[in-house]
Amino acid sequence: MKQLQLLAAGLALTLTGCGEAPPPEGAGALALVGAQLIDATGAPPVPDSVVVVRDGRIVSAGRRDATPVPDGAETLDLAGKTIIPGLVNLHVHYREGGEEIERQFRAQLYFGVTTSRSTGSDSPERVAYLLESAGRPDAPRTYTAGLGFAYPGGFNAAGRNAPTTEEEARGLVRDQVALGVHFIKMWVNEVVEPGLKIPPEIRAAIIDEAVANGAVPVAHIDDEADGRQLVEAGLRDFLHSTVLTFGPGAGVPMDDPDPSAEFIAMCLESGVAFTPTLSIVQNRWHFAERPELLDDPELRAAFNTYNPGALAGWDDPARRAEVVDDPGFEDRKAAFRQLLDFVKTMHDAGVAVALGNDAGTPNVPFGWGMHHEMEMYVEAGLTPMDAIVAATATGAAQMPPVGEADFGTLEAGKIADLIVLNADPLADIRNTLDIDRVMRLGEWVDRSGFVPAP
Ligand SMILES: [Zn+2]
Repeated sequence: MKQLQLLAAGLALTLTGCGEAPPPEGAGALALVGAQLIDATGAPPVPDSVVVVRDGRIVSAGRRDATPVPDGAETLDLAGKTIIPGLVNLHVHYREGGEEIERQFRAQLYFGVTTSRSTGSDSPERVAYLLESAGRPDAPRTYTAGLGFAYPGGFNAAGRNAPTTEEEARGLVRDQVALGVHFIKMWVNEVVEPGLKIPPEIRAAIIDEAVANGAVPVAHIDDEADGRQLVEAGLRDFLHSTVLTFGPGAGVPMDDPDPSAEFIAMCLESGVAFTPTLSIVQNRWHFAERPELLDDPELRAAFNTYNPGALAGWDDPARRAEVVDDPGFEDRKAAFRQLLDFVKTMHDAGVAVALGNDAGTPNVPFGWGMHHEMEMYVEAGLTPMDAIVAATATGAAQMPPVGEADFGTLEAGKIADLIVLNADPLADIRNTLDIDRVMRLGEWVDRSGFVPAP
């Protein structure tokens, strides 16, 4: 009897299986139909595209006539819109603890920044918080360099690692790696006074120990001689540039600002990437020179995410006048032009130029600042397409495992992190701020309420 019952049950299951149609091929998929697609691979834009997303990844992406919408997929008509990958910010400094970090996450996602790299200001507690947030659709993908390395008493040494011997440096690198950091950051520049700069043998020990332990070393520089020594020691990832931007002597045009042909050749040969970080420089005067930006509710919301005091400062006409009437103002702008020229020179030479902006420093708002940084790349002479590739694919390629990112471009198999724009960024790069919606890990980001209702 029992056997008969089992037989009957098995028969019933088989019959049910035969009676139901198999789920359609596109079940659970979403097809974005009709937008201009900028996939950031360097390919030309696709004017009328289909992008199919399922389970957080892109199933297919391309011309509408070559990219079928699978049966059963939900479709969304995006005619007139443009799709670009989510932005990758290689130079972020998170601030404070959990509640504040959540606001910084939200600001970034609101503006389509779906990946960030935190570069050297994170305590062990914050490293743990950032690592735990990995894989959340309501947070950007975040990499961290933990606590960075500086020279004792030098720039950014307070609260950071400041080893005096190679042995100590190696031990401190291993301590960071044990926390799970992805990068090891060092500041190689003099700001406090001449000579207070990590010596070459300690830099080399930091690089060697980082690489041996699977972390990627990255350095802040502002001098070509340091750049050369670091490349020779194995460094491939630079923040800032060889134009002096911090401390005594900065803000005055350099006599010979251009990277040498020899240094460019070294960079090309070793596959070096630069994140020149223009915002930290220009934002010292940008809102004084263009006060109309302060009327933008999105910019105000971005500032209020983390630093309402800075916004209040820029709202003050007397403060703005102080900045633009300063006798050094024209010099500062001329020096900044040299920094723009560095971006153009390196990009044209074929060196990987990524995007990052020091978001989280007083005048560089999370999220909004990435769009401003792209605008400056176009001011430097890059095309809008080049700026978008720099802000997405080039940045993604610097994340470990280096060169193997499964995000940053919009191709089959890649993670579905993307921005839908209302206007064409190739016509005007500032259109990247005209955001219709943002997708992170295949889910639409809730952007409501970030900008307070008027
Ligand atoms: Zn920084």
